[in-house]
Amino acid sequence: MSSRDILILSDIVEAARGAGAEDKELSLTASRQQLARSALLRRSMKVKIRQWNGVASWLWVANDENCGICRMHFNGCCPDCKVPGDDCPLVWGQCSHCFHMHCILKWLNSQQVQQQCPMCRQEWKFKE
Ligand SMILES: [Zn+2]
Ligand SMILES: [Zn+2]
Ligand SMILES: [Zn+2]
Repeated sequence: MSSRDILILSDIVEAARGAGAEDKELSLTASRQQLARSALLRRSMKVKIRQWNGVASWLWVANDENCGICRMHFNGCCPDCKVPGDDCPLVWGQCSHCFHMHCILKWLNSQQVQQQCPMCRQEWKFKE
């Protein structure tokens, strides 16, 4: 914010303070005009970015939204875990189905004969 902007803003504050109940409407329109003017000024100003605070969030990239085994959302964790993220990773099979690692491991361990994808019944192979 430039000193010019601050001046304009303080004008608006002064106008708002000075305005009684009866001419509130009037002063509101006036400050709106002043705001528009200051917006115009701002548009013509050159801005230098001195500081930048990045905010990052993560999402798993999966072709499905929910784990086909536990039916929990991929951005959450499997029922055995409490904290989603690296501690409860997702794994992909060569059939391109995706599950929580804990869920597919549990599933594969429960399979007696052949290890199959629980979604498409193809032989399960972890995708590299
Ligand atoms: Zn799961
Ligand atoms: Zn887990
Ligand atoms: Zn599959």
